[in-house]
Amino acid sequence: MTGRIEGKVAVVTGGCSGIGLATVRRFAQEGAKVVIADLSDEQGAAIAEEVGGTYVHGNVADKTDVDNLFKVAHETYGRIDIAFNNAGISPPDDDSILDTDLEAWNRVQLVNLTSVYLCCKAVLPYMLEQKSGSIINTASFVAVMGAATSQISYSASKGGVLTMTRELGVQFAREGIRVNALCPGPVNTPLLKELFAKDAERAARRLVHVPMGRFGEPEEMANAVLFLASDESSFMTASTFLVDGGISGAYVTPL
Ligand code: NAD
Repeated sequence: MTGRIEGKVAVVTGGCSGIGLATVRRFAQEGAKVVIADLSDEQGAAIAEEVGGTYVHGNVADKTDVDNLFKVAHETYGRIDIAFNNAGISPPDDDSILDTDLEAWNRVQLVNLTSVYLCCKAVLPYMLEQKSGSIINTASFVAVMGAATSQISYSASKGGVLTMTRELGVQFAREGIRVNALCPGPVNTPLLKELFAKDAERAARRLVHVPMGRFGEPEEMANAVLFLASDESSFMTASTFLVDGGISGAYVTPL
């Protein structure tokens, strides 16, 4: 049996942890050659060996690094079919607008939003030449909903990712290139686990809004990304793909 993305070449940013790592593994299981970009060099090398892929050190907020990432991917495998622009941060000093200073605001915008602009700009010429490609940008459910537990720059950055994704999806729809936004609900990644293990009340304040009564798992995001990456989603572009346990559809949740 052949895999669902057999022979395709995929670039995954932030591929050393959480949603990115689960997706790297899922992509490899389904037959893709995977290029992982991250800042965690030791883990990156080990993961690349595990999946038979390639690791490239790269800061997604740096244009030279991003251009190099896609150049290496193209030189190594001859094409780029899938770009999962996923790396992002959610630092504690990005909080209420009243407490978030300009430095924290700018840092989050750079890593979460400017990075997606840089990655899309770098990969599109390769995909345009091939006349095919699937780009998946990681936004968030906070791009479509407001929270009183604010992370102001994070939410604004994800709104930007969603809007940019929609625009690119429309612009390149007749060139064989699809661009979709993954909007995860809260997911059990190392970051979230650490935060909520320390503070049960903080976790409970959020869990009450999830109809399914639990956080998502990275593997559940990876399955959604695989669908968007593969030809199974061939009539989808410019979409807001919510994988959120029903949060965005809920008013009153079950007891
Ligand atoms: P994570 O912290 O587990 O993994 C992020 C990875 O990105 C890490 O390996 C990190 O080293 C890498 N990274 C960070 N900054 C980088 C940079 N400048 N250059 C290159 N790599 C960098 O995070 P995660 O929870 O898997 O989140 C992945 C994406 O999903 C992010 O965009 C995040 O905003 C989004 N998201 C997460 C959740 C959640 O609940 N976990 C919910 C919605 C959206």
